[in-house]
Amino acid sequence: MDLVDVHCHLTTYSAGELDEVIKRIEAEMSLVVTSGITPADNLKSLEIARNSEKILVTFGLNPVSLGRDEKLFDEYLEAVYANSKVVSGIGEVGLDYYWEKEESRRAKQREFFPRFIDLARELGKPLIVHSRSAMKDTLAILERHTPDKFFIHSFRGSPSQARKLVDLGGFISLSTAMVRFPRDYTKLINSVPLEYILTETDAPYLAPRKGEQNYPWNVRESIAFIAQVLDQDMEDVAKQVYKNAISMFGMV
Ligand SMILES: [Zn+2]
Repeated sequence: MDLVDVHCHLTTYSAGELDEVIKRIEAEMSLVVTSGITPADNLKSLEIARNSEKILVTFGLNPVSLGRDEKLFDEYLEAVYANSKVVSGIGEVGLDYYWEKEESRRAKQREFFPRFIDLARELGKPLIVHSRSAMKDTLAILERHTPDKFFIHSFRGSPSQARKLVDLGGFISLSTAMVRFPRDYTKLINSVPLEYILTETDAPYLAPRKGEQNYPWNVRESIAFIAQVLDQDMEDVAKQVYKNAISMFGMV
């Protein structure tokens, strides 16, 4: 079965465990995208991606850190341009009002978000959007300033917000937390066509079961869940989600 995890953080595993994780990715997965969140984490992620043809890397910048220290942006830009041939996407970037309560710093996040959108467009790469407790403002920016290719990772908005994103040409990426919150996710899955849905883990976070560490291959449980909601064959769902990921990351 074609299993894809379009958003995880492989840098959080210990070196010993990482070898095992990569082996299992090689054996069981079709595509895994690991996303960096700091300048150092981006470079570490890049090194990991070099170990496997199945692992792509994207360079991101934590919105909370950027809102507090805008000098990070120039350092980020430099690293993206220097590695633009091997970086497969811009993100995760976006807005985080959960960890940032201060309005002037939230405003800084909003000021920089369009610059990442411009960068993704300029480089012809997808934008991986992080939006936490900030969906209204995220959507407002994306409406005014629409990227060519993008998805919101670990989407937890409403069905109507999901439809709005799809109208803008965006995809929604649903995490393995769907197994824990079946009612919310059933509504979301039914609110947009399968052609706009991606699967992710956000590993090591958002595991199917509370308190556990998450792993990329757990997306198998998401595929089973989606298949059940849509009353479709797991194979067919997996194939479509894989197709969606391939078109997002421009591999066709
Ligand atoms: Zn993440």
